[in-house]
Amino acid sequence: MSTLWSPAIHTLQPYVPGEQPKQKRLLKLNTNECPHPPSLKAILAMNTVADESLRLYPDPESSLLKTAIAENYKVSPEQVFVGNGSDEVLAHAFNAFFRQTLPICFPDITYSFYPVYCGLFDIKYEAVPLDHKFRICLREFPKHNGGVIFANPNAPTGIALGLEDIETFLQKNTNTVVIVDEAYVDFGGESAVELIHRYKNLLVVQTLSKSRSLAGLRVGYGIGDVDLIAGLERVKNSFNSYPLNRFAQVGAVVSIEDSEHFTQVCALIIQSRKWLSDELKKLGFEVLPSSANFVFVQHSHLSAADLAGDLRSKNILVRHFAKPRIENFLRITVGTQSECEFLIQNMKEIVEQVN
Ligand SMILES: *Cc1c(COP(=O)(O)O)cnc(C)c1O
Repeated sequence: MSTLWSPAIHTLQPYVPGEQPKQKRLLKLNTNECPHPPSLKAILAMNTVADESLRLYPDPESSLLKTAIAENYKVSPEQVFVGNGSDEVLAHAFNAFFRQTLPICFPDITYSFYPVYCGLFDIKYEAVPLDHKFRICLREFPKHNGGVIFANPNAPTGIALGLEDIETFLQKNTNTVVIVDEAYVDFGGESAVELIHRYKNLLVVQTLSKSRSLAGLRVGYGIGDVDLIAGLERVKNSFNSYPLNRFAQVGAVVSIEDSEHFTQVCALIIQSRKWLSDELKKLGFEVLPSSANFVFVQHSHLSAADLAGDLRSKNILVRHFAKPRIENFLRITVGTQSECEFLIQNMKEIVEQVN
């Protein structure tokens, strides 16, 4: 705390990211990174821009990237916004659309960055409880709101909503912006992108951090009506004209175009997720039905906090949230098949030791 800070900074409650250990020998299953390498074509393309062109600023509009994303989703480049990770896209969207009189709404259990942005931009919010099976209930969202955001599949539950549920909600909620955060959609969810043509208040946000194995590159994007995108561009150009560097723009284009690699990686994750879920069930875990690259699990009689500690002592990191309703759950990222096997082997030892 410092008296030199702007007054509003004192009350901010910043997001706490999962640990990025300095120690190399840990198995990281705590931040939902993809265990498989990114597109080799993308890496090679980025190598070609490690040259004297770096003395020049990058394209402020990221035009080639917007075109590549537009082609991939069959929309126009004017319906695409890109940012330094989808976190930045979300921050600009909160700033551009959610600073309203009425509170915005999101599920009580969801991505914990949403309340952080509300703090930063002084936005009031109402958290709408998930149902008893940890599903998002759009029916329960207040009719009068300043905006709505939810992750689909949701985090950290991994549970996906169907497109019909989202469309039914959009038919009623026409006057405020609805953001669907699709960070995990490629692992088994249904994207709402096709709905942007019919619902001008819908913004769909995706990222290259999870299914494209490029968390280190920091590239995310939003797809929506041209008027929404124009609002985002206003905010972006009032903050940072060059959010995507030269490597990010080139690497992201090639990664988006390498659909063969993308399809393979997603299939591997889905296959290992099934195996991991089945094995955890055999060890006495309840596993929520996941459409993401992680599973959210609780044991019938062992405490999640203890399990996280026991795994850590075996050099495995998983994520535990000490929050109401989910304090006995662990979120475990789906690794490679051999990483999943290593986790299960260690988990077996822990569970058997206690029994
Ligand atoms: C990982 C994640 C993001 C952020 O992704 P970046 O593009 O790496 O900033 C956004 N939303 C959810 C729900 C996530 O899990």
